[in-house]
Amino acid sequence: MGDELLAGFTVDTNGAWMGRRAASLGLPVRARFVVGDSAPDIRGALARALEIADVVLVTGGLGPTGDDITREVVAEALGRPLRLDEELLDELRTRWATWRRTPLPAGNERMARVPEGALVLPNRVGTAPGLVLDVEGRIVVLLPGVPAEMRGLFDGGVEPLLRQRLGDRLLPLVHRVFHTTGIAESSLAERIDEGIPENLGPVSIAFLPRLTGVDVRLSARATPDDPRAARWLDRVEALVEPVLRPYRYLAESGDIVECIAEEMTSSGRTLAVAESCTGGLVARRITELAGSSEYFLGGVVTYADEAKRAHLEVSRDVLAGKGAVSEEVARAMAEGVARVFGAGAGLAVTGVAGPGGGSAEKPVGTVWYAVHLDGRTQARRSVFPGARRAVRERSAQAALALLYRMLRSG
Ligand code: AMP
Ligand code: MG
Repeated sequence: MGDELLAGFTVDTNGAWMGRRAASLGLPVRARFVVGDSAPDIRGALARALEIADVVLVTGGLGPTGDDITREVVAEALGRPLRLDEELLDELRTRWATWRRTPLPAGNERMARVPEGALVLPNRVGTAPGLVLDVEGRIVVLLPGVPAEMRGLFDGGVEPLLRQRLGDRLLPLVHRVFHTTGIAESSLAERIDEGIPENLGPVSIAFLPRLTGVDVRLSARATPDDPRAARWLDRVEALVEPVLRPYRYLAESGDIVECIAEEMTSSGRTLAVAESCTGGLVARRITELAGSSEYFLGGVVTYADEAKRAHLEVSRDVLAGKGAVSEEVARAMAEGVARVFGAGAGLAVTGVAGPGGGSAEKPVGTVWYAVHLDGRTQARRSVFPGARRAVRERSAQAALALLYRMLRSG
């Protein structure tokens, strides 16, 4: 709740956070309403939420200022008159005096007003407490809008309470995620559809595309100890696995660099990178992971032809004859950077990121990338869709994926 959310000054991170938490708890989220600091709108959202859900989580509008009206509007709509909770007021006064060394401002006394029959959840981070109301078997929870306060109250009060009250009615979403790279969402979906029967039991399949690849998520709703859900998931996983296998990588973080780091480190190899159109993106991604110094020696951004020649010993003739975006130059860069750094592996990317610089033969998005490993060099060409940022991200990922495939097969 709050005008700032509607105007887009504040992003509704509370909604996303509570949605994730509720879903993992086993409470699927039916809807989310965002309304301003307006009594009729708050009443409308509350009424609609109570029509469709057993639990209604509300955040925002519990503060001391005039626009914070959630407590009053909800109390009135549910016919629960507000009563001053003397004990709570005393506590607020004491805590305020300790923190700020001033008396509690008059506006803050409202925060000690509690709807009849509400359970009070003490707020250890801020002032406004959380309030829990039983509404004809449904649960309405009011939480402050400040994210840290909302989270503290959710963890410390709301979640245990929901577990206790709803217990066996909670059906958490059990899921398995498979990361893939190097195949488009539609091709992946098509191949998976071909290979699996209509009936997947309680399992649903979701495709989640990112710039670096597509995650495939299998999910089923079940109590954690229900063996049937696990059996169904096993069955569907066995069906999709052959399709995913060539594109799949196992990284908890979802980043293929994690897999590369593991392969490189365990085999004691070293790596250097030479980048043109990605401008350091590959090196950034590698070094973002702690421990990369174990295998990563360094990299160069060689943007101009002259830089490719001077720093990587790419021959002037090849540059002039084939152009900077070519198989020959990508290979020479990968081999050159391995040689210059004295690394066992060299990776190189050169391409046309756009929006300018494309031609009929090499349209925007054309990228050559190469990996030199254990004395062998492999190069690939891709034409990536999207704007400059997307082309650069996809290029970096494709080069890293090639390195990973070669490490695995080597
Ligand atoms: P309120 O309790 O509505 O006065 O909100 C206090 C502050 O919490 C606001 O100024 C926002 O910065 C933040 N806030 C409120 N609602 C949300 C929300 N749904 N998501 C993220 N931040 C929020
Ligand atoms: Mg507000």
